[in-house]
Amino acid sequence: MKEKKEHGDMPANELRKFGYESIDWLVDYLENIDSYPVLPRINPGDITAQLPESPPEYGEDMGRILEDFRNIIIPGVTHWNHPAFMSYFSITGSGPGILGELLCAGLNVNAMLWKTCPSSTELEQTVMEWLRKLVGLPGDFWGISYDTASVSTMHAIAAAREMVPGLDARQKGLSSSGMRLRLYISDQTHSSVEKSAIVLGIGLDGVRKIPSDAEFRMDTRLLEAAIKEDLEQGWTPFCVVATVGTTSTTSIDPVDRIADICKKHNLWLHVDAAYGGLGAVLPEMKWVFDGCDKADSLVTNPHKWLFTPQEFSAFFCRHKDVLKQAFSLVPEYLKTEQDQVALNYMDYGIQLGRKMRALKMWFILRYFGTRGIQSRIRQFVEWAGELAGWIDDHPEFIRIAPVPFTTLCFRAVPEGIDFPGDRNMALDEFNEKLIGAVNNTGKVYLSHTRLNGRLVIHLALGNLRTERRHIEQAWEILNLELVRLKEEML
Ligand code: PLP
Repeated sequence: MKEKKEHGDMPANELRKFGYESIDWLVDYLENIDSYPVLPRINPGDITAQLPESPPEYGEDMGRILEDFRNIIIPGVTHWNHPAFMSYFSITGSGPGILGELLCAGLNVNAMLWKTCPSSTELEQTVMEWLRKLVGLPGDFWGISYDTASVSTMHAIAAAREMVPGLDARQKGLSSSGMRLRLYISDQTHSSVEKSAIVLGIGLDGVRKIPSDAEFRMDTRLLEAAIKEDLEQGWTPFCVVATVGTTSTTSIDPVDRIADICKKHNLWLHVDAAYGGLGAVLPEMKWVFDGCDKADSLVTNPHKWLFTPQEFSAFFCRHKDVLKQAFSLVPEYLKTEQDQVALNYMDYGIQLGRKMRALKMWFILRYFGTRGIQSRIRQFVEWAGELAGWIDDHPEFIRIAPVPFTTLCFRAVPEGIDFPGDRNMALDEFNEKLIGAVNNTGKVYLSHTRLNGRLVIHLALGNLRTERRHIEQAWEILNLELVRLKEEML
């Protein structure tokens, strides 16, 4: 192996050559993404087995590294950019988003302080304002980006904890007050909220799950009753997390009613609109945010269906000062002469360093524009409605939940099969096999969830490269595999 120079970065001519080569590869990849299996056909350990156990002693040729990227890494990639990736929540690394990420990596700033990159801080402030207006939140919501909704929600709950009178968790920790904090969620709330409770010392015992109604929305009568009971038993209720777009069924909690309950009991209301918040971009869907104007904080994730490459979560908070009170801690070396007049994002969260995350968001908002974003999101919602109709018209599929956004939950109920034993369990098994069979075609990727204890097929739309033909194909494959599985059983 040829020994490389031992000083300095990759020479400019190499960066240019392999930069062009990488972009060419990426554009071809995205253009031909249909030809890849959505799910890789490999077993655990297959990729590791192809990678050396130790790093190379001498630097390697970039051409060879990229060759290994194509030959070893790509075969183990689940193609989230595939138009038939309809699992979990379907997402897009869009062109302007990719370019934003590229330039962000190239600039490699650390915008912990205004001074350490004024453009990054001021661009983020602008972009967060644009996003706030796009989804229609009131002007007193202040915005900051974090990497994920899980982290945004953790910050919301930390701020809520900071507001508890007589607690002073920041200084004294949780144990000194003897208070037992209580946080309310529904039985459909995302697991990230419970993880926040673990991290923040509230503990899983401090989280009370309120049952949801027939449409998987938090039952507010039960919420009121739970708060009353907890108060009687010496708990200190401090926060409710409502969801706009639950993970399984994209249900919308009655936020307006929950906000009234929070006001009555002086509880912080955080809204997890990680997925559903983007529906509010459409004028005809503004209703999904009913009551959210009364929340203390709200998170929505452009990296879900706003075409943004992974790791851009938009957090909005009414109490910027409380967030700062919870997190600001400034060692001498981070003091600057602008501290009194400029925003230092490090004061509003657990991480010190932060990249210029807003660049990709800025590119996306400008490239597509409000109208372009709306028409694309509207298209997904329309297609989801159409697909819901096909399911409803089919005698062997039933829809399990309403479809307010672009996600469908349904279940196969094959006719003419006499399942031995527990029919529900047998149907669970049948649906699991059906999802497996569909995914094994490599042409579609669906996921599952459980609702009322029963296994359900979960299909989400939201990738910009998805065309109607991909949805038709997914439906056709579901139908074909259903017939094939039935035949196997007869
Ligand atoms: N909240 C909801 C409602 C979700 O559906 C998800 C993930 O799907 C999350 C939070 C977590 O999102 P993130 O991966 O950004 O932490």
